[in-house]
Amino acid sequence: MPERRHAVESAKRCDVEGCGAEAVRSVSGKRAEKAGLSLASDPSKNAHLCRNHYREFKKKTKKDRTLERLGW
Ligand SMILES: [Zn+2]
Repeated sequence: MPERRHAVESAKRCDVEGCGAEAVRSVSGKRAEKAGLSLASDPSKNAHLCRNHYREFKKKTKKDRTLERLGW
């Protein structure tokens, strides 16, 4: 979504190690780690993810769920 950001100071950075792109979402740090993302921040807190990493996170968690279901 095109969104004007004039609050530059409150802009968060992606918490994935070595990334640093602008964060668009925040998720549970533990879930992010479970999804295979290595966080530069404390995983017991929320992790901020950029668009790319959020997409990756969603893909991984979806796969996880499928695997869990298949494991039944
Ligand atoms: Zn990122």
